[in-house]
Amino acid sequence: MADKPERRREYNRRYYEENLETLKAQSRDKYQANEAYRNRTRERTIIRNREQRRQLRQKAFDLLGRLCIRCGFSDERALQVDHINGGGTEEARRLGPWKLAKRIIEHPEDYQILCANCNWIKRHEQNEQPSGPPRQFA
Ligand SMILES: [Zn+2]
Repeated sequence: MADKPERRREYNRRYYEENLETLKAQSRDKYQANEAYRNRTRERTIIRNREQRRQLRQKAFDLLGRLCIRCGFSDERALQVDHINGGGTEEARRLGPWKLAKRIIEHPEDYQILCANCNWIKRHEQNEQPSGPPRQFA
């Protein structure tokens, strides 16, 4: 019958909605009770997040280029996404890493690639504070 899979889906959806709290509690209990499961899940999450971050970084490089726009440095390990108009630290804090990556991909015109040295030099030139409280040197 053609509508059977649809009925099954509808039944599952309704069951899920009606038993949401129970299902959440079961999942929470399973997670807390089973250390091996917890470790597996944590490990998988770490690996998945690392891979997603790598992919987002590559996507940003695809959009913005793989060279420092000031000096031409090209070793990706030291390339950084710079906010052209400054305020990057504040934006990163406000959006968090995933929303920031999404914003970079949706608005690449607001960003550029700088190497770590050129990024620090730009911060000094524009008197931008690095993250954290201002540092005092003797
Ligand atoms: Zn540079």
